[in-house]
Order: sequence, then C-alpha cells, then structure tokens
Amino acid sequence: MSALRQLLKSAFTAALPQSWLMTRGPRASVTEQKEIALTFDDGPHPEHTPRLLDVLAEGGVKGTFFVIGEQTLRHPKLVRRIAEEGHEIGNHTWTHSEPSRTPANRFLEEVTQTRRMIHNLTGRDCRLMRPPKGVLTIHKTLGLWRQQQTIALWNKDPKDFAMTDETQVHRWLESYRPRSGDIVLLHDNHPRAAGAVERLKRDDLRFVTMSEWLDRAHPRNETGAEHPVKQEVADVR
Ligand SMILES: [Zn+2]
Repeated sequence: MSALRQLLKSAFTAALPQSWLMTRGPRASVTEQKEIALTFDDGPHPEHTPRLLDVLAEGGVKGTFFVIGEQTLRHPKLVRRIAEEGHEIGNHTWTHSEPSRTPANRFLEEVTQTRRMIHNLTGRDCRLMRPPKGVLTIHKTLGLWRQQQTIALWNKDPKDFAMTDETQVHRWLESYRPRSGDIVLLHDNHPRAAGAVERLKRDDLRFVTMSEWLDRAHPRNETGAEHPVKQEVADVR
C-alpha cells in the first residue's frame, strides 16, 4: 500500500467510531498487563478448532472466532462449544467467496444468513463482521453499517496459513513485540494457531475478546441490544 493510501486509511479509521470499524483496540490498558485480542478466521475445522479450544481453555485465554457459515452448518457442535467456553463469535460470510467476484447484494445476503445461523446455534446475536481478505466496497460497507455490524479488521498478521512448520511460528513470536490494542489474525482451519497461542501465553499479556473493547467504549443496555439487531434477525427468519 502506498504511503498516501496508508495515511488516508489511518485518517479514515481514526475518524470513525469503533462500533463501525475496528482495526485495533485501545493502546491504553486498564490493567498492568498489555491487552491483546486473538482472532481466528475460517473455521470451525473438525481437527484444528478443538485442539485450539483445548489450548485456549488450559491458559484461560478468550478469543474471537470469525466463522464461515458453511462450516457452521457442517460443525454446529463446535460453534456451540466455542460460545459455551466463553469466546466471541463473529461473522466471516457464508461461503468466503472472493471479494472481487462477489456483488454487494450477495455479500450482504451471506452476512445475514451466517448471522442467523450463529443466532440459531448459540442464541446470541453477532455484532462483529470480518470481510474475507479485509476487502470491502463502499456499498458493502454501507450495507454492513445499515445492519449495525462492526467491521472487524486486524493490525497484526503473522500469516500463519503460510507457515509450514513450528519454527516459522517461533520466528514470528521472536519478532513480535505485543502492544495493548493489537488484534492478531490467525486461522483455526490451519494447524499453526494452537502452537502460536501456546507460546504467546505470558504473564504480562491479557487476552480479550473484541467486544470487551467495544463494550468499554460503547456500553450496551441490559438486554445486550445496543442496536435493534435482534428484531432484524427475527425478521429475516
Ligand atoms: Zn478468511
């Protein structure tokens, strides 16, 4: 990305409320520890997701899973397990189709379909949406905001999907200097996420879900409905 585009993107991001677009969390932590959000895309996967959940549970670590609708249909028990173990579930479209070949109306239908599925499986409404590859058009962006969805991007990408062995995980961890507010992008349809989390667990880090940051910035009311989203989910059924 050119320096000018990068500058425009940062200015745009800084100007918007976090409930519209999140590329990282707050740099100031509420505790002594640095706060990091671990995010896991493209699952659930029958082999890698359970292993990752075990590692997260052992360390008492919470994460945010951006699930693909089709995968939730194949592995509904895993979706329930993710939710029951206290992690957050976000929307990553129904088919993860290539953004450049997916018109806005189809993209938005996929978001609605996936959101309905997550709601049916977990009883919870989903407020976070991560577009495949982080790519959106203005129509898709406006459509997501109309559905009161927070566009959830990231600022740290170790490219775990391209790592072929654990030494590459080590190399990334050696070079990574965590800062409060980091949103780390990992993939639970690949085998490296569990190893990365295992080695990332440290006393000076606290792992939060993305909604924990959002709730701090924009507290929700008692019913959990900041926006009239529940009604909208009911309407599309
Ligand atoms: Zn993805």
